[in-house]
Amino acid sequence: MASSDSENSDNSESSIELGFVQRLEIGQQWRLHRCYFPSKIGGKPAWLNPKDIPKTDDLKCSLCGKAMALLLQIYAPNDDNSDTFHRTIYVFCCKSESCYEHNSNIPFRVLRCQLSKDNEFYDRNPPDYESPEYFKSCKNFIEVCRVCGFAGNKTCSRCHKASYCCKEHQTLHWKFHKVTCGSDSHDSTAGVDDGFFAGDLMFPEYEIVMETEESNSCDVLSQDELPEANGQFSPSELEQFANVNLVGQEFSSFRKITATSPDQVLRYDKAGSPLWCSGDNKLSSDKVPKCSCGADRYFEFQVMPQLLNYLNVQNTIDGPSIDWGILAVFTCSADCQSAGQSYHLEYLHKQDFEQIQS
Ligand SMILES: [Zn+2]
Ligand SMILES: [Zn+2]
Ligand SMILES: [Zn+2]
Ligand SMILES: [Zn+2]
Repeated sequence: MASSDSENSDNSESSIELGFVQRLEIGQQWRLHRCYFPSKIGGKPAWLNPKDIPKTDDLKCSLCGKAMALLLQIYAPNDDNSDTFHRTIYVFCCKSESCYEHNSNIPFRVLRCQLSKDNEFYDRNPPDYESPEYFKSCKNFIEVCRVCGFAGNKTCSRCHKASYCCKEHQTLHWKFHKVTCGSDSHDSTAGVDDGFFAGDLMFPEYEIVMETEESNSCDVLSQDELPEANGQFSPSELEQFANVNLVGQEFSSFRKITATSPDQVLRYDKAGSPLWCSGDNKLSSDKVPKCSCGADRYFEFQVMPQLLNYLNVQNTIDGPSIDWGILAVFTCSADCQSAGQSYHLEYLHKQDFEQIQS
């Protein structure tokens, strides 16, 4: 891992993992509890380190000042390093459309958290992934806000069980909580979600499942033959609503490579290189900001535009909207740990589709 010899690897097998959205069935919410080490979209963060969690102030949008929402989190352990036996990357973003600009990464933030095999939070043995009861054996460390999932140091004055980060979130939750307040059926010791969902504050929640990309040896589809999957943006739809021509060599190969799995929302290719969607605003590896520890950062994964279809975001032609071509995430090649800090800032580069007004 820390050695950076992987860039010129002549390994001919594709090692790219693709992420797909998996809708949770009712009653399956437990699958996204942190003790199962989930990869997921939206909802509250499932904090890998449940004790030293980021403050809401650390995740405020620097443009509008509002708290950012979890876009997704990816469980990506690195077996080469004993410090990264468990490892999760979190991508947060602002929910205000007005903070989004072409090719601007300002409303995004990426955090990395990792743990060694011996840690105070999880057993050395893997969890029972199929057991809906397993999470109950998982100890809670600090109370999190029942609305947003960040540290909650205020509790309901009646039951003293429900925690909140602020008065606003308590008020928001009251209609829901008053039914169980006092007779709390909610098992707060395990920190399981009580099912309350604040749609204005967070994105809908889904599981992410990963599959290895099939090698792309099939005949190249012509533009007319590209699949237009249900509910997805096909390239022609993208062109229509953005009123742009999508052109260029990068876009053509983007289209070609993603055509075999048009539903992919994530491409994981650690130490590989991003699949650019445009010739504009590519980031060369020497321009990727180094980690605060001094080590180079390398590419780890990219979020694809298909994810937008699952986020309940408005897409408008006029004015800003929450969207992107790709979001490329770069992480510290040394997976550094600094004392007293459990969540490390990493780097995200946003590349939008090239817009040539027709
Ligand atoms: Zn904002
Ligand atoms: Zn809160
Ligand atoms: Zn209460
Ligand atoms: Zn570092």
